[in-house]
Amino acid sequence: MKRLLTLGILAQLALSTASFAQTKVVAHRGAWKHTGAPENSIAALKEAIKMGCEGSEFDVHMSADSVLFVNHDADIQGLPIERTSAKQLSAVKLSNGETLPTLEAYLKEGIKQKKTRLVLEIKPSAVSKERGIALTRKVVAMVNALKAAPKVDYISFDYDICKEITKIAPKATVQYLNGDKTPDELLADGIHGFDYHYSILKKNPSWIKEAKSKKLITNVWTVNDEKDMDWLISEGISLITTNEPELLIQKLRK
Ligand code: MG
Repeated sequence: MKRLLTLGILAQLALSTASFAQTKVVAHRGAWKHTGAPENSIAALKEAIKMGCEGSEFDVHMSADSVLFVNHDADIQGLPIERTSAKQLSAVKLSNGETLPTLEAYLKEGIKQKKTRLVLEIKPSAVSKERGIALTRKVVAMVNALKAAPKVDYISFDYDICKEITKIAPKATVQYLNGDKTPDELLADGIHGFDYHYSILKKNPSWIKEAKSKKLITNVWTVNDEKDMDWLISEGISLITTNEPELLIQKLRK
C-alpha cells in the first residue's frame, strides 16, 4: 500500500512537472542585437552558445553553383545568392570581418558543443520549387555527413520542403513556419511541430495546448516584447524565438 502511494505521488509529480515544463530560449539569427555580432554570423552563434540558449536559429541559401551559405536575405551586399558563385560569395566580409559563412563552416562550429541546438531554416528558392527541394537534399546530406544530425532541428516556410525533410531524414524534427496549418494537419503530415508568428497564436490561442497534447513541438517567432513573452510563457509554449535572448533568459530565471 505504502509503495502504491509512493508511486502515485511520483506519478503526480511527473505530471505536474510536465505541465509546467519551462519555456526555453531560441536566439533568432544567433545572439546579435546586444553583442555586436552580425546576424547569422558564426560569432552570433558563439554568443548564443555562451549564453546557454536552448537553440540558435539561422537561415540557409544555395549559391548558383550549389554551395550552401548562411544568410537571412536572398541577397548579400548586392549579390543575389542563388545567382552568384561560391567563389564570389566567399569573398564577402560581414561587418565584423568574418567571411560570409558556408553551412559547412557554421555546422562545424555548432557541433563543437553539446548544449545549444542548431535551428536550421531552409529558405525556399526564388528560382523554382525544384531548386528549393534540391537545396533541401543538399542541406540534409551535409548535416548527415558532418554527423550534426542529432543537434539540428529543421524549420521552413515551405510546406513541401518540410515534407521532403520528413522523407529523407525520418529521425529529424521539422517545424513549419507559415502559420496556415492546424496542429491536426501537421500531425497528419508527419511534421513535428509549429514555429509560428506570435500573431497567429494570438488568433488561435488553443493551438498551443492542442499541439502539446498531441506531443507536437510548440515554437514561436520573433518575440521581442516582454508582454508577449509573458503571455506565451503563461500559455506553456515550449520554445520562444527572440532577438532578445538576454531578456528572456533573465525572465525565465526569476
Ligand atoms: Mg529565419
